[in-house]
Amino acid sequence: MSRPNPVKALNGVRSGHICDRCNKEVQTGDMVRAYAAHYDRDGWMLRRLWCEECGDSAIGEGTDGTDEAIIEAVL
Ligand SMILES: [Zn+2]
Repeated sequence: MSRPNPVKALNGVRSGHICDRCNKEVQTGDMVRAYAAHYDRDGWMLRRLWCEECGDSAIGEGTDGTDEAIIEAVL
């Protein structure tokens, strides 16, 4: 089954977002990594967001048993 692109979960994220690990402010134009999970009712939801230095490339924490993805994007 095809899903919408998880990068859409980043819609609405603006500069001023804070890295979940080091609390650095993420600026527009910065590379970010984010963890998103897909819910049948809500679609892709952004769960965590990190700056370029902190970003995980693997899903390390417990999840909700749904589809999930690590996103890399430039804000
Ligand atoms: Zn960080």
